[in-house]
Amino acid sequence: MRGIRCSVPFGAETAHSKKGCYGVLDFVPADPRVPFPDAVDVTACSEHPAWFSDRRQGEAPEELERAKETCCTCPVARQCLLWALANPALTTVGVWAGTTPKERALLRARLEQRLGPDWIGAAARRRGRGRRHP
Ligand code: SF4
Repeated sequence: MRGIRCSVPFGAETAHSKKGCYGVLDFVPADPRVPFPDAVDVTACSEHPAWFSDRRQGEAPEELERAKETCCTCPVARQCLLWALANPALTTVGVWAGTTPKERALLRARLEQRLGPDWIGAAARRRGRGRRHP
């Protein structure tokens, strides 16, 4: 994996948090059915992590908007979104694939309505079969 920022919140540890990131207090495993996005190039979130932090939203709303716009052109946005949706405990803060925590909560609720309680498994299987949307 290269080029993806690590915005794993304090109190979580994942495979990528072991690669030199911060805040390893407890172990929260990532859902194994959805692989972490694997970027060939450096992504905007790794170059400008401050834009992707919603902790500063009140101070710098333009950075949040810039992050959301940048995600639209990211080559791993689809994979990033599914991973973020499948791992709510690891994505409680920040912009992931152009979404805020509140927007991700709404998307999870809609996916559960549409695909059922095992929506992550259903989305992972669809992704494996080459479907475009979770
Ligand atoms: S979609 Fe956005 S948050 Fe996800 S890897 Fe790309 S730039 Fe980073």
